[in-house]
Amino acid sequence: MSFLELSNITKRFGTFEALRGISLSIERGSFVSLLGPSGCGKTTLLRIIAGLETPNGGSVVIDGSDVTRLPPEARKLAMMFQSYALLPHMTVLDNVRFPLRMQGSSSTADQRQRAHEALALVKLDHLADSRPRQLSGGQQQRVALARAIVYQPRVLLLDEPLSNLDARLREDMQIELQDLHHRLGLTTIFVTHDQEEALSLSDRVVLMRDGAVERDAPADEIYDDPGTPFAADFLGAANVLKVLVEPSGVRLSNGQMLTIGQAPKNGEALLILRQEDLSLGEGTLSLDGIVEARVFMGTRVRYVVRVGDDTIRVLTDRDQSAQPGDRITVGFSPERARWAR
Ligand code: ATP
Repeated sequence: MSFLELSNITKRFGTFEALRGISLSIERGSFVSLLGPSGCGKTTLLRIIAGLETPNGGSVVIDGSDVTRLPPEARKLAMMFQSYALLPHMTVLDNVRFPLRMQGSSSTADQRQRAHEALALVKLDHLADSRPRQLSGGQQQRVALARAIVYQPRVLLLDEPLSNLDARLREDMQIELQDLHHRLGLTTIFVTHDQEEALSLSDRVVLMRDGAVERDAPADEIYDDPGTPFAADFLGAANVLKVLVEPSGVRLSNGQMLTIGQAPKNGEALLILRQEDLSLGEGTLSLDGIVEARVFMGTRVRYVVRVGDDTIRVLTDRDQSAQPGDRITVGFSPERARWAR
């Protein structure tokens, strides 16, 4: 049995089914992202793990004991939200010490020492005597993180903790979170709707859709082989082409025939092509198309190309210039193609 086991979790709000039988096994020390569009049930699942919400069915088992009916404080987990609310009238140190004070199980001196240690972990010990309002948004976020880890929780639950930060700070915090995770080996569950964040931070990505798990795989695997059209689209806007597999090859909607290995059985199928695996010009295989749009993005250019009934996106280096209306070929290597299952 894994460290954290969710078995067949269901949750209804009135007649609405927010979670439809979720089962997950999470290993001790791993960093797992719950990824998915707004409303798919990520926060509800996290709150059920935390004990802030009771499931209608299923169980939550942590380290071998069933905690499904236990209140949050008995679970020894820490949760950090998007709005992390530090107490303004307290110093940074006292904010971090707060959960230990509430627990009341150790001396003041011990609590202070542990708060200092937690602050040192997020590299803010030098600001221990400041007030929250004297800190930047990113620093406040790190104080909240120190407060979450101060009593050495068994699992750290993070609900979109970085979504209020600007892009630069967000990146700094991502690095900080990863570093902290490596140093402490804390089992971490991270909720996000940002696929890039999920892929870059976590060992494993659980992609959710409408209250169910759509795909659950290591980050590199889910990116390389998304498996379903929804995952392909959500995990980086890959192209999904409706094709016909025939004995002699794969027929595109523009009539072109291609030879692609490991095609599924004859009939309609969905071919997944990542936009960065495509290039303008001949490849091992080439698609004939017409440029519909060219989007300049700084270091790269995205072309929107019509191929028969399909519109595909091609992400290229900026020197490959083609203009809307141009007839072009889009090249790719067949081994980069994936099939939806
Ligand atoms: P977001 O990224 O927008 O936070 P999410 O994936 O975290 O979305 P949840 O917050 O878990 O989604 O919500 C899942 C669904 O359950 C949504 O449709 C939401 O409206 C509904 N829901 C959540 N909490 C309640 C509640 N207390 N009462 C009624 N419906 C709720």
